Amino acid sequence: MDEKTIKEKELSARLLEEIKSLTAGREHPLRLMEVCGTHTVSIFRAGLRQLLPTGVELVSGPGCPVCVTPDGYMDAAIAYAGMEDVIVATFGDMLKVPGSSSSLAEAAARGGDVRIVYSPMDALTIAKENPEKKVVFLAVGFETTAPTAAAAVLTAEQEDVGNFFLLPAQKLVPPAIRALLADEDARIDGFILPGHVAVVTGSDAFSFLPTEYRLPGVVAGFSPTELLRGIYRLVRQVAAGEARIENEYKSVVRPEGNPAAQKMMKQVYETCAAEWRGLGKIPDSGLCLREPYRRFDFSAVRPLDLPPAPPKKSGCRCGEVLQGKILPKECRLFGTACVPEHPAGPCMVSAEGVCAAWHKYGGGVFQYD
Ligand code: SF4
Repeated sequence: MDEKTIKEKELSARLLEEIKSLTAGREHPLRLMEVCGTHTVSIFRAGLRQLLPTGVELVSGPGCPVCVTPDGYMDAAIAYAGMEDVIVATFGDMLKVPGSSSSLAEAAARGGDVRIVYSPMDALTIAKENPEKKVVFLAVGFETTAPTAAAAVLTAEQEDVGNFFLLPAQKLVPPAIRALLADEDARIDGFILPGHVAVVTGSDAFSFLPTEYRLPGVVAGFSPTELLRGIYRLVRQVAAGEARIENEYKSVVRPEGNPAAQKMMKQVYETCAAEWRGLGKIPDSGLCLREPYRRFDFSAVRPLDLPPAPPKKSGCRCGEVLQGKILPKECRLFGTACVPEHPAGPCMVSAEGVCAAWHKYGGGVFQYD
């Protein structure tokens, strides 16, 4: 173990002691929500749940883009993938997400042209290489990825690429947090705020938490020590009866965020109501293309007349998991009818899905890597 690792280990041990002493004797554990799927995985990989004292409970929020994408969107993507003149371009973890009755992987097996890409720009390249096809990029994600999809739209416009489209389903994190807190069953004492999202939005985007809800929030990084520092700061605020936003990820997050990315988003998108799995329709939580760019929205160019997605009979409780109301192990399908190889719900599909993280790292041990 090198010197840096030894120092981090010592610091983590001290932070755990502090957290323990600040939460000792509590009647109910403090419930802290991590909103970001990458945080969820980092917490599991480090085994932090096992290390934290009983006075702190971590719950996962709706920060995995694949998990919050509703059946109706998947049904539309699957229908487009079945069209002769369409290529659907998507991040790989969308392939196994179940729609009402099928998935993109099954659409590809039936002969649909579904291609895995690593960025919207890859999809734009496919469009240039296949001028006889319509190339539809599944624009799923949060503030983190929305600027790159906006950049692809602007490039397509500049280069006059007429066969590149988005199927928009991009979402904004702050309205989802508000929706969670509007639920009277929500019992959340503080938020570990998403570091990657905050790079774009800035930490100030979460100032409504202390001002409107008297709740603390800490923007955190992703290493075990950074996460523990974030948890410690939250616990310290609650113990002192304080509520403010702190930034534990100052190396990349500024209070005002990234103005260039925000400007590009404002140019291309406007906010609109969006459907979130588990949370329902939330006003102003989605990003739709503004009028000058609406010709890049494939759902507007080629509208579908699909029946509304029927209620799921599988017994999947992903929606409740994403609201922090239950833990994945409380779903009766967890680890039996629902495993990463055969997911029954979207929270088991993505590497960032809460159920997938529980399944993979449920018994994790503390690691410094
Ligand atoms: S374990 Fe599977 S079925 Fe249960 S909530 Fe999670 S994703 Fe849904």
